[in-house]
Amino acid sequence: MEILYKMKEYAKQERIAINCEGEELTYRELDKLSDEVASYFIKKYPNDKSPIIICGNKENLILVLMMGALKSGRAYIPLDVTFPVERVKQVIKEVNPKIVINLTDRDLEVPNVYTKENIEDIIAKYSGNKVSEDNWVSGDDNCYILFTSGSTGKPKGVQISKNNLDSFTKWFTEYLKVGNENTAILNQPSYSFDLSVMPLYLGLLNGKKLFSLSKKTLENMRETFDELKKSDMRLWISTPAFASLCMQDDSFRKELMPNLETMYFIGEVLPPKTVALLRERFPNVRIINSYGPTEATVAITAIDITDEILEGNKELPIGYPMDGSIIIVVDDNGKEVQDEEKGEIVILGKSVSKGYYLNDEMTKKVFFDREIEGVMYRGYKSGDMGYYKENILYFCGRKDFQIKLNGFRIELEDIENNLRKVTNIKNTVVLPVNKEGKISHLVAFVILEKENTLSNLKNTLIIKEELKKYLPTYMIPRNMKIMKEFPVNSNDKVDRKKLMEEIK
Ligand code: AMP
Repeated sequence: MEILYKMKEYAKQERIAINCEGEELTYRELDKLSDEVASYFIKKYPNDKSPIIICGNKENLILVLMMGALKSGRAYIPLDVTFPVERVKQVIKEVNPKIVINLTDRDLEVPNVYTKENIEDIIAKYSGNKVSEDNWVSGDDNCYILFTSGSTGKPKGVQISKNNLDSFTKWFTEYLKVGNENTAILNQPSYSFDLSVMPLYLGLLNGKKLFSLSKKTLENMRETFDELKKSDMRLWISTPAFASLCMQDDSFRKELMPNLETMYFIGEVLPPKTVALLRERFPNVRIINSYGPTEATVAITAIDITDEILEGNKELPIGYPMDGSIIIVVDDNGKEVQDEEKGEIVILGKSVSKGYYLNDEMTKKVFFDREIEGVMYRGYKSGDMGYYKENILYFCGRKDFQIKLNGFRIELEDIENNLRKVTNIKNTVVLPVNKEGKISHLVAFVILEKENTLSNLKNTLIIKEELKKYLPTYMIPRNMKIMKEFPVNSNDKVDRKKLMEEIK
C-alpha cells in the first residue's frame, strides 16, 4: 500500500509524523511501532481478519494502531470519544470483532478489551519485530470502516478499500500540489469523521507533520489558538463551520499562522461570506471548496475559489469531478438532466465504496455497477441535489432528510428513532431551523405518552438528559416543543411542512 511504502522511505529521514499537544512521533517510530503491533495481531489471531475497533480520541498511539491494522491485513474502525457508549456498544455488537482496543476510561462491557497498558506491553514484547509486505492490506481489502448516522437508528458502516484510497490520494496529491516537505497540516476532525482521512492519508503520503488538536484542546478556544500559534501550519483542512467558529475570535488571522498556504474546506456548504472574510484575514492564501460523501472516499470534486468565482456567485461551486471518475446529475427516473437543471448527484469511479458493512439491503439501495464505454464502474446515488453550469458542479441540498449541522452529518430519522427510546415519548418529529440559508439548530416536536403538568422547559430538560444516553451532543435538538398531536397530510402522514411553518 502506497502510504506504507512511503512511511518506510520517510522513516530513513528525520521527519515528524504526528504532534499532539507537544508529544511527537517520528516516521521512524511510527513505522517501527506499527510493525510491532501488526506482528502481534498476526501471531495472536492467525486465522482472523475481522476489523479492529479502536476507541479513543487523538492520541498518537491511535495512528500507530491504525497503521498496525493495515500492516496486519486488517481494517480499522475508529470510534471517537464523542460517540456515546451505547452507540459504541451497538457497533461492537454488530461488527463482532476479535480485537477491540479501548484507550478511553469508559467501560464498554466487552470481554478481553485491550487497554493502553496492554498495547504498551505488546510493543515492549514485540520490540524489533517486522512484518512482511505480503501481510499488508491489498487490492479490494478494506482499510477502514466509518460508521455514519443511519436512518434506522443503527449506524451504517461505510467500507473503504485500499484501491478506493489509492485512487483518492493519487488525485488529491496531484490536485493540491503540497510537496513533500515535513511541514504541518491540520489534523483536527475526529477519526470517526471521514474528513480526518484527508490529513491522515494525504499527510502521511507526502511526509507531512500531522498537527493534532484533541477534544480537550478544542473545548477551549484559548488553548486551541495557543496550539495553532505554535504549529507553523501550512495546510488547513476543516469544515467551514470550524473555520467560522475560529473566526469569531479576531486573532484568527495571518499573524496566528503566518506561513499558511492553503485552506481546504469540505463537508457542508461553504458560504461566500465566509470566504470573503477569510480573504481579508488571510490574504494570498489559496482557498479550496471540495465535496464528497464518505461512500466515495472523502472528496470527489474540488475547485479553487478565486476572486472571480467569489464575486460572480451567490452560491459557490463544488467544482470539477476527480480525474478518472464520472459525476452525473439525474432526474427521478435516473435520466441525465440538461446543464443548469437540478437533479440527484450520482458518482461513478474507483473511489466509490463496495458498500455498507454487513448490510446488503442498504448497499443495494444506493450502490450499483455500470458499464460505460467498455469500462466497469462502481456507482453511488448520493441523495444530494446538484446541477452543472459550464462543466462545474453546484450543490443544492439533500434529497432526503440527511442534513449537515456544524459540519456533522445527521439523519433526522436517526434522532427521531432514538428520541422514541426515551421514557414517556410517544412520537416525535425533528426538523432543522434555517437562518440565512444555513441550518442553525434542530427542533424536536414531541408527543408525550402520559401528559404531565410540567412546563415545556422542564420536560425538555428531562428528555435531553435521557437522550444523552443514546446520542452524541451534536445530535441533541436545541429546542423541543411538547404537542398534543401532530398535523397530518392527505396521505395520513405527519405533515412536516406544517410543523416547519411553526418554527419559521
Ligand atoms: P460525510 O459523508 O459525513 O462526509 O457527508 C457527506 C455529505 O456532506 C454530502 O453528501 C453532502 O450532503 C455534504 N457535503 C460535503 N461537502 C459539501 C460541500 N462542499 N458543499 C455542500 N455540501 C457538502
